[in-house]
Amino acid sequence: MKIINPATEEIIADIPADDAQSIEQKLEKLRQGQKAWQAVPVSERLDRIVRFGALVKENIDELASILTSETGKPIQQSLNEIRGAHNRIVHLQAHAMETLGDKVMLAEGATHEHIRYEPLGVIANISAWNFPYNVGYNVFLYALVAGNAVCYKPSEYASLTGLKIQELLNSAAVPDDVFTCVIGDASVGEHLLKADFDGYFFTGSYKTGKHIAERVAGKLVPVQLELGGKDPLYIANDVVDVKQAAINAAEGAFYNNGQSCCAVERIYVHAQIYDDFLRHFTEEVKSYKIGSPVEKDTFIGPLTRKAQIDTILEQIQDALAKGAQLETGGKQWQRKGYFLEPTVLSQVNHQMKIMHEESFGPVIGIQKVEDDEEALHWMGDTSYGLTAAVFSQDQERAMRILDKLNVGTVYWNCCDRVSPNLPWSGRKNSGLGSTLSISGLRTFTQPKSYQLRF
Ligand code: NAD
Repeated sequence: MKIINPATEEIIADIPADDAQSIEQKLEKLRQGQKAWQAVPVSERLDRIVRFGALVKENIDELASILTSETGKPIQQSLNEIRGAHNRIVHLQAHAMETLGDKVMLAEGATHEHIRYEPLGVIANISAWNFPYNVGYNVFLYALVAGNAVCYKPSEYASLTGLKIQELLNSAAVPDDVFTCVIGDASVGEHLLKADFDGYFFTGSYKTGKHIAERVAGKLVPVQLELGGKDPLYIANDVVDVKQAAINAAEGAFYNNGQSCCAVERIYVHAQIYDDFLRHFTEEVKSYKIGSPVEKDTFIGPLTRKAQIDTILEQIQDALAKGAQLETGGKQWQRKGYFLEPTVLSQVNHQMKIMHEESFGPVIGIQKVEDDEEALHWMGDTSYGLTAAVFSQDQERAMRILDKLNVGTVYWNCCDRVSPNLPWSGRKNSGLGSTLSISGLRTFTQPKSYQLRF
């Protein structure tokens, strides 16, 4: 499989992909390894993950450079991601022992009842490229600590990162019959769906997630889906500082080139501050440095996938044809690589694709609303349900909107963030089940009930 640098369009590696046979062999090996891994005490499994975290820190410059070379993520954002993902390990250190330990429910006279949380077995983790450390750790580190073996399929756009993670886990005494990578694209992913894993944990698009759920349904094993979003942000007219709100909103929309599942994808602004907000927002976006992702001050690098350029240009054309106003951007950046100028569209409405199809790139639509009721109406007008945000001075006012929205996460005066303390879950077309927090660790277990009579 050829790995292309999206900033230069050069082939930077050519690595062997897996096939049906190699996947079966890996699965068989993982089955054996998992039995021994389950017998390793939780404290020891945790120690090895902590050792892995230390190795990641020691090698961070090399890891960030690999991530940037295959995804085009600006180097500073690669470093941020790898450093930030460590908070999952800190969370596991704080909670794994307690969460995975036996729970005594009744101990009265001769009757004793307790719950044991056993691992699922060997799980398949099919993953995305946009934050391979964050979304990867959410699944495979938690699954490993819970006693599972993991067959990890990094995205074809983050394979070098996946192989490096495998190397470091193996160096940290998580053996290769407990964690192993499968390399390849959708066709290799299909082989994973045919094989008999004890659970399928997927991060990626709605389209692929739905396909996977349908394809493996007959196996009657757990399936978890972390999918896309079209996340709304409402700027109320009482924000303390309109300029600061615009700067924060722009970062929520354009960080990682907008390629975040919880990126701000739609903005609604109260009519009283709309013009002011739009001016500050556009100024901020125009100030972003676009360029080579290896330069430390670059904020906008290339998109990771070439095909996404056409998807986004089509959304922009559709919006303009229906009356949107182009404030900045709107075209490819004239140089080699998959660059697209960060784009701001105003005077948008829900007839336009830009307000209901996931863009997953550096483009945003900003719509004027008359009041909170109208904002709530449009925020809820979506097939997705990942996150929603409100910027306002008034917490109660924000909660009156956020409490009514059918999403997994709500933000007040912040956006585009993930915490290991809280469940990360999507509703509707944004997914099924949750990672992170205590419930995201239990996800990788199956309870066994013990009823004992002494
Ligand atoms: P994608 O669906 O194209 O691919 C995801 C993974 O699925 C890749 O490893 C790919 O090779 C594999 N795959 C593709 N077709 C397959 C098939 N038929 N059978 C088996 N495997 C198959 O998604 P992507 O482009 O990698 O990621 C972007 C999407 O992921 C966006 O929609 C984004 O919002 C979403 N995402 C969601 C979260 C979350 O936590 N909710 C996090 C990150 C990304």
